[in-house]
Amino acid sequence: MYDRALTGIVVDAGHGGVDSGATGNGIVEKELTLAISEYMYDRFRELGVPVAMTRTKDEELTSTTRPQRALEKFGSGKDVIVISNHINAGGADGAEVIYALRNKSTLSESILNNLAQEGQEARKYYQRRLPGNPAKDYYYMLRETPNTEAIIVEYGFLDNKSDAEDLKKNYKKYAEAVIRAVMKYKGLNYTPTSDSGFYTVKSGDTIFMGNNEY
Ligand SMILES: [Zn+2]
Repeated sequence: MYDRALTGIVVDAGHGGVDSGATGNGIVEKELTLAISEYMYDRFRELGVPVAMTRTKDEELTSTTRPQRALEKFGSGKDVIVISNHINAGGADGAEVIYALRNKSTLSESILNNLAQEGQEARKYYQRRLPGNPAKDYYYMLRETPNTEAIIVEYGFLDNKSDAEDLKKNYKKYAEAVIRAVMKYKGLNYTPTSDSGFYTVKSGDTIFMGNNEY
């Protein structure tokens, strides 16, 4: 059921530069997707997983350079996971995951389940075909990253006021839900972070530092 091999994970922060993506209710899509992606990058590193980012700053990437960058670090094998982070607009509420025509739904389904566990509404996971050529994916990050396991995660709707407030407050929790799904999907050992309410003892800490309860 699960595919254990993993070459690496590419985290893609949607939009950037003059392309802000959607904006509303105090959220600029390109900024929140970068914050989510930076969080993911740090966490995957912490978990010992090979990881790369398509952009690390406010920078415009074209529909050619973005997939190129996605394939630069780990190639385009089927054991490469590409996670493209986005925030939706259009008035609805909740999360969606889009997966490539070449892939199974297992990972997308698991991501939505985890997001629901963290309190986000799970709308749907789905595939979308190019109208002019239904054999191809509609979204270029899925279409132009051949062989890889590529997904687009839409965390919520920024033009929905309550969803936007929720995203501002909980985006790390939702990013963590995606990370947890990926680790399980690849059969890798998952440990929670201090950000999700667990204190991680580091070398140099005195032993009771993380515990003020009596
Ligand atoms: Zn977007």
